[in-house]
Amino acid sequence: MPPRHRLDGIVIRQQPIAEADVIVSLVSAEDGRVDVLARGARKSLKRFAGGIALFSEISAVTEQGRGHLPTLVESSLNAAFLHKSPSYGQLALASYVAELAACASQPSHADPGLYTWLRASLALCESAVEQALRTPRLGVEVGFLQALGVCPDLQACIQCGQDTAAGGTWLDADAGLTCTRCRRPSPETLSPPLVRALALWSLAPAEPPIDALPPSAALRVAEQQVATLLGHVVPQPLRSAIALRDLLRFEA
Ligand SMILES: [Zn+2]
Repeated sequence: MPPRHRLDGIVIRQQPIAEADVIVSLVSAEDGRVDVLARGARKSLKRFAGGIALFSEISAVTEQGRGHLPTLVESSLNAAFLHKSPSYGQLALASYVAELAACASQPSHADPGLYTWLRASLALCESAVEQALRTPRLGVEVGFLQALGVCPDLQACIQCGQDTAAGGTWLDADAGLTCTRCRRPSPETLSPPLVRALALWSLAPAEPPIDALPPSAALRVAEQQVATLLGHVVPQPLRSAIALRDLLRFEA
């Protein structure tokens, strides 16, 4: 019998091929990115019993056959994210999360941090409220940067090293914040709640609950700096990021 392998992972993509088959892309904590062939998945819905739906966390058994991809033999559902009639906004945000995960995950490369972020981010998408996606998007992005190890320390001032709890100015995306003792506050200075939120997400990825951050010049600065950091690690523009940006235009 060909060797079998068991893994837990989250479905980030489904790609129909041939008449009835689907290539399922998973991200797992131990094996990184894994693409498996689900034979007959489109012909028989019962075959994998809901275990390959997008944004599902599954336990899978795969078999290395003669083909290029391992074949999915069994799949059972551990947790279903966004399965109960999600809104368009929730789906757009979750697609963005999945696309970021696809960019960052590598085959045979264990990445527990990325997996933790992915799971927490999908849970966050599920609790996201339509018309208030701006804050959760920022939370997802900051957590992602942290999971990749490229988020600057936002809790210590880059000049004096003291804490930024009273707020800070974010002038250079890569460097971090200058505290209000070292630099006089301006409308673009990040408020204490905004600094707190950013620090929280950089410690615990996409940690809910998140109170919506009020729109401000400082929030825009934070979003721009995070986008700059993302630009270093993700090829731009992601398709889902554009869809999300279009949605966010209608928010204050
Ligand atoms: Zn300072």
